[in-house]
Formats: sequence, structure tokens, C-alpha cells
Amino acid sequence: MRYIKKLEDIPQLTETKRAALQPVADVYAFRVSDYYLDLIDWQDPADPIRQLVIPREDELKDWGRLDASNEAANTVMRGVQHKYPDTALLLCNEVCGAYCRYCFRKRLFMNDNDEASKDLTTGFEYIRTHPEITNVLLTGGDPLLLSTRRLTEIIDTLRAIEHVQIIRIGTKMTAFNPFRVLDDPALVAMFEKYSTPRKRIYIMNHFDHPRELTDEAVASVDRLIRAGVIMTNQCPMIAGINDDPQVLSDMFRQLSWIGCPPYYVFQGRPTAGNDPYKVPIVRGWEVFREALRHGSGLARRARFVMSHETGKIEILAVDDERIYLRYQRAKDANLRGRFLVYRRDDDAYWLDDLEPIAGTDTPRFAAEGLATVADGPSDRRGRAGVIALTIGSGWRSGCWPANRSISCRFSSRDRN
Ligand code: SF4
Repeated sequence: MRYIKKLEDIPQLTETKRAALQPVADVYAFRVSDYYLDLIDWQDPADPIRQLVIPREDELKDWGRLDASNEAANTVMRGVQHKYPDTALLLCNEVCGAYCRYCFRKRLFMNDNDEASKDLTTGFEYIRTHPEITNVLLTGGDPLLLSTRRLTEIIDTLRAIEHVQIIRIGTKMTAFNPFRVLDDPALVAMFEKYSTPRKRIYIMNHFDHPRELTDEAVASVDRLIRAGVIMTNQCPMIAGINDDPQVLSDMFRQLSWIGCPPYYVFQGRPTAGNDPYKVPIVRGWEVFREALRHGSGLARRARFVMSHETGKIEILAVDDERIYLRYQRAKDANLRGRFLVYRRDDDAYWLDDLEPIAGTDTPRFAAEGLATVADGPSDRRGRAGVIALTIGSGWRSGCWPANRSISCRFSSRDRN
């Protein structure tokens, strides 16, 4: 597999185009595998695969922050993030098979960034001394770009820590370079060894578009399933790539057929450089809801969520006036399971843009972080939305008219 890092090595781009895009690539790194480059339909300037990896001039528009969900606040040491008590992230690599133009961690690929670490010695020690950590996510960058020997060392060390039950690996290599799996029997054998009946390894794949599900990609997914890995998919909603109900629905259905069901669709974080890829919350929800109309239940398992600095927030429903959300996970225990009601705003891209409905104890957020949080009684946690919807009488008097009818999907269980 050849990785292309220079625009001048893409003959399909005219010289003028390359000159126009070079200033963008100088700011936000460019890289792509030759396999993935071959998937582009160069006749179509709006080709979604092209949008995904080829820079665009409008990335330089001033929008967002490099660390849009303030991961710095969760970084306990180089390469380790610890936001929720049971989950630790190990940022073990700072390279990916290609660089998604809309990446929310593109800061990792910049020269002066040292957040990721290949030396995880202190990270392992941190996890060892925190018995509440039962769930470790290897991420970056792409962990599957590490050598099989190095990845084996990491998995072996984590498996030796008794309280670590789930190991997850976030990767887009099955899309960017499925041969990483297909051509390396040692990698597959490693998964066979360490994904055990009592403690499975999960691979969080990252397919964004059904055209990425080539025969090779599907074969790599199959190889990993046969090795005993649990496969699932998560992706952001990206303008020009998958903000289309038909595209998303096609992908969901195909993913369910191949044993890699959709798990999360993320509202794009307001990350610097991502202006051309942004989708407003309301439109994203409409696309997502429409995509869920088709396919079996397994194709409709995804949840539409926002990874906000305060927690993971599910976008439950939108009606003519309001947006309904709920914390799936929260950094602050007071927010866990909290049901939120904001004024509908079709131009809002992030939680911080939304206005709470007066009379609810929905918190208001500001760009610089949490501005106010009203404490709610613990018995509301995880049940507020269902109570409000089923009895229609208001979670908080005045916030939910009895005759209000909205369409939404969520349950009272706090699934992570
Ligand atoms: S694979 Fe993930 S980490 Fe890598 S560039 Fe794409 S979005 Fe970013």
C-alpha cells in the first residue's frame, strides 16, 4: 500500500487546483492511501469519496476551534484521556490511513502537537491504579497503523489488567486500507487470541458512505468477525458526504448485512477547518430520522449524538418549536440522564448555540464551557424523557403542553 502525502502526486488534480489547495494542505495535513484514491470518481467534482480526503479551499474559513470539545480538560497525561469514570482513552498513534478532511482531532496531525504517545508505560500504570476503568478505547490517530507487534504488546498489557473488561479499537483502516487486515495473518491471529468469550475486543469501524463498502472492505470486516471481534460502526454526519437519508440508509442496511451494525452517528463538532463539512443540528436530525425509516431493526440501531465537552448527548427529537436532547453520558454526575429542552434553531450547529426553554431546568452552555447548571433530583435521571412523552403532562410544569405530539425514539434505559 502506498500512502500519498503530496498533492503533486495526484495527477487527476490540475496544476492550478493543486496550487490553490496547497495552502490548505499546509495548515491541515493531507494524506491518502492509493487504494482509497482509486475509489474517487474524478468525473464528479462533488464525489463524496473525493470530499472525504481531498482538501477544499473553504477549509480555511474562520470557524470553530481546534479542540472543539475541550479534550484537553480530560487529558490526565500525555496520550491518556479520562472523562467518564469507567472509560479511558489511549491516544496511541498520531497517524491515520488517510486524513478525513472533517476530522475533529486534526490537531494531532499538526507538527507541534504531542497529545498522542507511542510510549504508554505511564498510561498503563494510570489504568492499573484506577480500578473503576473497565473500558479502554485505543484511538488516535489510527491504532491499526501500529505494527502488529506493538499492537499485540498493548493488548497483552491491557488484558493483564483484571478490571479492564472491554477493549475497543477505533479505526478507519477497514475503509482506508482493508489490506492491513487481509494481508496480515498475524494481526488476525492476535485478535483470535485476545478477543475471548468472556472479554471481547470491539472494533469501532468508521465507514461514512456505502461506496466505502467495497469487496475488500467487506472481506476485512469478515476476517475480523471470524477472529471473534465484535464489529460496529460510528461516523459523523458530514455535508456533501452522508447528509442524505438515502446514502445513510443504504449504508446502515449494508452494515447490518455484513455484521457491523451502526452504533453512533455524530453531530459534527465545530472544529477549525470544518466549515465546508458542517450540518445544522435540525437538518442532521431530519436526515437521520428519515434514514431510519428503512431497513431492519439492526440497520436502525444507531443513535444521533453530540460529543460535547460536558458529555455525550443524544438528539432525541425536534418539533416545530423545540429540540429535545438527553445526556447518555455526562462528566458531571448531576447531568447524567438529564433530559434537555431547547428552542428550535435551524441555524444551530452545537449545543452551545441553543437557547434553553424558559421554565425548564435545562442548562445553558456557552462557548467557553458550562455557564449554569441547575441540579435536578436524581429520580429524573434516565427517565425524564419517557415520563414527559408518555404522560404528556410535563417534566416541569409549563415546559411540556399536554397536547404536544412529537416523533422521537429513545428508551428510559441509559445505554452507553
Ligand atoms: S480516521 Fe478518525 S482520527 Fe483519522 S483522520 Fe479520520 S476522523 Fe480523524
